[in-house]
Order: sequence, then structure tokens, then C-alpha cells
Amino acid sequence: MRIVFATGNKDKMKEIRDILGGLNAQILSMKEAGVEADVEENGSTFSENARIKADAIYELLRDKEPSAEDETIVLADDSGLEIDFLGGEPGIYSARYLGKDTPYTEKNSIILERLKGVKDEDRTARFVCAIAAALPGGKKLDTRGTMEGRIGYEIAGENGFGYDPIFFLPEYGKTSAEISPDEKNAISHRGKALRAMAELLRDNL
Ligand code: IMP
Repeated sequence: MRIVFATGNKDKMKEIRDILGGLNAQILSMKEAGVEADVEENGSTFSENARIKADAIYELLRDKEPSAEDETIVLADDSGLEIDFLGGEPGIYSARYLGKDTPYTEKNSIILERLKGVKDEDRTARFVCAIAAALPGGKKLDTRGTMEGRIGYEIAGENGFGYDPIFFLPEYGKTSAEISPDEKNAISHRGKALRAMAELLRDNL
């Protein structure tokens, strides 16, 4: 079997290879599989967006290489940050929130400003990751993982990316940008959703 992951992100591919490496399958990025596509994510949940991407890339690959359909699985993910005090924002708009090209230092500062004066217990937030798989014969598998935390009071940490420097993990007393990549993978939304997907695939391969 070959598993094609619908992402162009190198860091994600590394994590995916680490976690799905135990499966008896070749793991390819979209580029390695020779497809290029910018699928419009017009769903209203993380799971819907992941499903839209997985199915669209599955169809593209099937049209490109009909003979490989029986041995191709396409995986896609969608992730983001939900801040309870902001009614779940930025949610599925996490990448586009406050401007697609606005640097995260600026986005993070604006979020801290919006939560100014908000008490600890009202600063709850979570990262969410949904993963969708499209398998031969129309079979579909879906998983979801979350990492709970709080919006901190300042920007801290150099690891990770995006909103990690303001995402405080009370049990570590640090942000998710201050823990090591291995520590983050062990508890992250993406790590959890990927490991759950690896389990489901193991039963379906
Ligand atoms: P996507 O799933 O690659 O489209 O990511 C959506 C957006 O959610 C990213 O651009 C980040 O803003 C945010 N995000 C998702 N996962 C993380 C994470 O682990 N750390 C920080 N930001 C994240």
C-alpha cells in the first residue's frame, strides 16, 4: 500500500513518517506522489475540511493513475486553535485569522491584548486536529485529537510554530513553544489524531 498525505509541510511529513512508519506502507507527500492542488477548504468544521481535502486528492490521484487505485490511501488533516473566551475563534480560520500574511508575533500579541484582564479560568483553549482518510473502495476513516491548555499572559518559547508561544500548558508550567518537539508530539492534537489513525489503518490494511 502507499499512503499519500495531503500536505506540503515538511515538519508535518516528518511527524507523519515517525508515527505511521510502523505500518506496512510507503508514505509519500503530495509532491512525491506527483500531485499538486490547492483544495478550497469550505467546510464548517475541522473534520469537514480534512474530509474535503482527502477526498479531493484521492480523486485527483485516481484520475492520474487509475491502475494504482487499489493500493492508494490518502490522508489529510486540518487543525487550529479554539479560544473559549473568543467564542472558539480563530478555530477553522486559524491560518487566515488577523490576515494570512500577518506574522504570528503580531497575531499572538493581538490575542493577548484581547484577553487582557481575563482571569486564568476563563483563558481556556485547545488545539484541535482532525484527520480524514480515503481508502480504496470508498471506505473512509476519521480521527480527531485535542490538546487542552490556556492562553498565557506573554509570548514565550522558540520551538513549535504559529500560536505555540501563547499556548500555556498548566501541567508543564510552560508554553507549547517551550517544551521539546518530542514532548509536544507525545501530547499534541496532531500526535493524538495521527496515532489514532495509525491504529485504525492497522486494522484496515
Ligand atoms: P493547518 O492545519 O496546517 O491548516 O494549520 C492551521 C493553523 O492552525 C496553523 O497555521 C496554525 O496557525 C494553527 N496551528 C495548528 N496546529 C498548531 C500547533 O501545533 N501549534 C501552533 N499553531 C497551530
